[in-house]
Amino acid sequence: MKRIVILGSTGSIGTQALDILSKYPEFSILALSANDNIDLLAKQALRFRPEIVAVTNSSKAASLKEKLPDDIKVTSGKEALVELATLRKADIILISVVGISGLEATLAAIQSGKDIALANKETLVAGGQLVMEAAKRSGSKILPVDSEHSAIFQCLQGTADQKAVDKILLTASGGPFRGFDYESLKKVTVEDALKHPRWSMGRKISIDSATLMNKGLEVIEARWLFDVRPEQMEVLVHPQSIVHSMVQFVDGSVLAQLGATDMRLPILYALSWPNRLQADLPLIDFVKLGSLTFEKPDFETFPCLPLAYEALKIGGTMPAVLNAANETAVEMFLQSAIDFIEIPKLIEKSMIVHKTKLNPTLEDILQADQETRERIKRDELI
Ligand code: NDP
Ligand code: MG
Repeated sequence: MKRIVILGSTGSIGTQALDILSKYPEFSILALSANDNIDLLAKQALRFRPEIVAVTNSSKAASLKEKLPDDIKVTSGKEALVELATLRKADIILISVVGISGLEATLAAIQSGKDIALANKETLVAGGQLVMEAAKRSGSKILPVDSEHSAIFQCLQGTADQKAVDKILLTASGGPFRGFDYESLKKVTVEDALKHPRWSMGRKISIDSATLMNKGLEVIEARWLFDVRPEQMEVLVHPQSIVHSMVQFVDGSVLAQLGATDMRLPILYALSWPNRLQADLPLIDFVKLGSLTFEKPDFETFPCLPLAYEALKIGGTMPAVLNAANETAVEMFLQSAIDFIEIPKLIEKSMIVHKTKLNPTLEDILQADQETRERIKRDELI
C-alpha cells in the first residue's frame, strides 16, 4: 500500500487525484491540504480519513477542527505544507498547490528523501536547479504530472542514454484565443480567457493557457526534468490535445504518447509508476477523431512564450522573476485590474529591470520573487 500526501487536495488536480485514487486499494491517503476551502477539505477528510490535514490560511484552522473528529489532526500556516511534505510515513507527495507556494515544501520533501509527483510547474520554473540538485543528492524521484511531461517521461522509459534524445516536441492546444490577432486580444474578457477549449482546470493555469505562458512555463519545466537545452525544445500547436508530447531521437525516430484529455491518467501514472494500473478512463476513438493537426505557435501575438525562452536562456533568478511577474499579472487580470494584453508587458518590464543572480540559493529566488511582486504592486514599471 502506498501512503500518499496531497498538497492542494481541493484544487482541480487534487480533486481529480482523489477521484482516481478512490478506485484503488493500492493507495491510502495519509494527509491533505487546502489554502482556504475548509468545507471541501473537511468533506474530503471525512471520506478518505487521512491522519492529518492542513489549512495554510491559519485563521481557518479552528473552524476546520470543529468539522472533524479528534483522530484527524489539524495543522495550519505556511509551515504546515513542509510538515506534511516530510511526514515519516509518507511514500509519495503529490504537489498540486498552485504557484510559488509549492517550492519550499517540494524542496523539503526531496531533502527528506521522499518521491514526489509534481503538478506544480511554478516550483521548477522558479527553482529548477535547486530542486534537481537536491533530488540528485537525496535520490528522490520526481514524477511529472503535467500531461506533456508525463508524455515525455513515458516516451523516455527504456532510454538509458540521454544522448539518444535529439529533441522534445511539446504540444500545446493553443488555448481559447488560437488564431486571434493582437487587435482582437485587446478586447477579451476574464470570462473569455477562462473558457479553455479542451481542459477544465484551475483559474490561474487557465489564464496561462490563454496567454501561452503555460507552454512557456512547461518549456522551463521540461528543461529541468529532462536535462535538455532550450534549442532542443520545440512547441507545436495541436488543437485536438490527443498527442500529449513527443520525443525525437538522434536516429530520427519519434515516440509520442496519446490519450484522452483527462488529467486523471497522468496523475495515476505518476502515482503508480513504474507500474501501470488497469483504469476505467475515457479512451480515444480514432475514427471519430479523424485527423490530428499540428501548427507553429504565433510568437508575435503571444509574447509570453518567447519571454519564457528568454528567461530560460538568461537563467539564474530570471525564470523566478518571469514566474512572479506572471502570477501577479494573472491575479490582476482575474480581478479585472488590467487588460489581457498587459500581462506580457508587465512580465517583460519586470525582466528588464531585474539584475540576474546566477546559481541562486533558495533565499535569492524568494527575494527575486518578492521584489518582482512588490515592484508591480507599487506600480513602478513604466
Ligand atoms: P487550483 O487553483 O484548482 O488548486 C490549487 C490548490 O492549491 C487548491 O487546493 C488551493 O486551496 C491550494 N492553494 C492555492 N493557493 C495556495 C497557497 N498560497 N498555499 C497553499 N495552497 C494553496 O489549481 P490546479 O489544480 O489547476 O493547479 C495546481 C497546479 O498544477 C498548478 O501549478 C498548475 O499549473 C498545475 N497543473 C494543473 C493542471 C490542471 O489540469 N488543472 C494541469 C497541469 C498542471 P483552496 O482550494 O483552499 O484555494
Ligand atoms: Mg500541461
